[in-house]
Amino acid sequence: MSQSKLTDRFGRTVNYVRLSVTDRCDFRCVYCMAEDMTFLPRQQVLTLEEIARIARNFVDLGTEKIRLTGGEPLVRKDILELVREIGTYGLRDFAMTTNGSQLPAMAESLRKAGIHRLNISIDSLDAEKFRSITRTGKLSQVLEGIDAAREAGFEGIKLNTVVMKGRNDEEIPELIEFARRKHVDISFIEEMPLGEISEHDRGLALCTSEEVRDIIRKHHELVPATEDSGGPARYYRMKDSETRVGFISPHSHNFCSTCNRVRVTVEGRLLLCLGNEHSVDLLRVLRGNPVTDDKLRQTIINAMDLKPERHHFATNGDVQILRFMNMTGG
Ligand code: SAM
Ligand code: SF4
Repeated sequence: MSQSKLTDRFGRTVNYVRLSVTDRCDFRCVYCMAEDMTFLPRQQVLTLEEIARIARNFVDLGTEKIRLTGGEPLVRKDILELVREIGTYGLRDFAMTTNGSQLPAMAESLRKAGIHRLNISIDSLDAEKFRSITRTGKLSQVLEGIDAAREAGFEGIKLNTVVMKGRNDEEIPELIEFARRKHVDISFIEEMPLGEISEHDRGLALCTSEEVRDIIRKHHELVPATEDSGGPARYYRMKDSETRVGFISPHSHNFCSTCNRVRVTVEGRLLLCLGNEHSVDLLRVLRGNPVTDDKLRQTIINAMDLKPERHHFATNGDVQILRFMNMTGG
């Protein structure tokens, strides 16, 4: 039973926080960013000490799980110091989502610093396609990063693939075989309308989880797994492998009634829902005078009243949320 002191108007308990540690990234994935992004000036960005303070106060309020994300968390200077600090808070689950490019050099240190589990994004196993989707990414680096993570002994590694029609949907069977070979899990994600992009039409590119499942079922029987993350993911198992296959379906799976999470952007905005703009400014509290942990905790507790009942993503690709995913903290 969760000891979280954070409950909202709909009786949901919040015990999972995703913290974005930077809006910057070494990739420019076509669904996540515009090609010429402007990033936040340094003074608008939380310091590592401020991020740690937010994390500690969430833990004091009963948070059991923290995920560090971004932007690309591993391009934030001194990220290992933050990981080491949060690693002392006694979390049940401490995870990170990364594009994998820095893992060849950092996987082992991350594990030692206290990260339990990693999500690594990979949308293609073809170097050219990988480059065209990430605009700047090098596939070989990420493949090396996945191997480095496996050697470092994380409790769990999951690959994340955003599926786009006509772009990487044909690679789904190959990606499944890759995950099975590497003994890691894999989730397929429906593209969400976060931020305005001109590179492709999100509505036309949308490949629903149902379509992805149908493709996989031509090769493997999928048995529903019992795990529920409280989030948008549904998991399946295959009979002859320990690899789990997840489907993250913000469009087709209404997971809102069991939502247990909130996000904090690197500007210190506490976001109550991925698909809504409701937020509370924690940076102002942190840089106010006097700053007390009591005030920060009370602000977080009060914010729970703003958590909306559900999100409303349309499937036609229309932008409803102006922030890009790198700002939201995926
Ligand atoms: N840079 C890291 C990475 O790519 O894993 C962490 C941040 S990234 C924003 C987190 C996840 O969000 C990635 O798996 C990425 O593929 C996914 N993502 C980004 N933009 C998205 C969008 N518009 N719809 C669905 N998923 C998206
Ligand atoms: Fe960077 Fe991750 Fe966004 Fe790709 S999805 S641009 S790797 S933050």
